[in-house]
Amino acid sequence: MTCGLYVVTSCADGKANGQIANTVFQVTADPARIAVSLNKENLTHEYVSRSGVFGVSVLDKETPMPFIGLFGFKSGRDVDKLAEVEHKEGLSGCPVVTENALAVIEARVVSTLDVGTHTIFVGDVVAGEVIRDGEPLTYAYYRDAKKGKAPKAAPTYHGPPPAAAKERNDVKMQKYVCQVCGYVYDPAVGDPDSGVAPGTAFENLPDDWVCPVCGAAKDQFEPE
Ligand code: FE
Repeated sequence: MTCGLYVVTSCADGKANGQIANTVFQVTADPARIAVSLNKENLTHEYVSRSGVFGVSVLDKETPMPFIGLFGFKSGRDVDKLAEVEHKEGLSGCPVVTENALAVIEARVVSTLDVGTHTIFVGDVVAGEVIRDGEPLTYAYYRDAKKGKAPKAAPTYHGPPPAAAKERNDVKMQKYVCQVCGYVYDPAVGDPDSGVAPGTAFENLPDDWVCPVCGAAKDQFEPE
């Protein structure tokens, strides 16, 4: 299924948080109304439930992986995510992330639907702004071009591929998998965002190199 990739934000009791979501969509035009599906275990879910407002940032196609890792693979219970990125307070009091955003939207919840592991929040758009021109990031581009993965809490998560489906290529350099987020380091691709050229073996990565998705250290990787 085709979908975009967004940062959904909310706040409660003076605290703010945000998370990556690929489940934002417009449900009606008049009134302007959008919906998002959030995992019940996520802190952002708690904040939206309590405050009744949420923000949506439409991400730029060129959004770097560490930014996506911050919002997609780290919990607001462990880190203050918004402290690390450009953001601003919206009209509703809800923060919206402006860094790597093409547009921001604020919505006030008018309806919710319990769908098991997730809740679908439907909200009336109360504010919106185009931040900059650009091409929106899609979930397909994130997975195919950026080699991004879905965390276990995502609606689109599925486990690692069965062994039979893996490439049988024992001549090429060994790929390594991040045990935290599932990112695969492919020596043929390298990690250009971090200055690692294609053709760099995992063993030759600098000791301070970290997973471009979740920030895990090298010792968190295992051969694929
Ligand atoms: Fe990782």
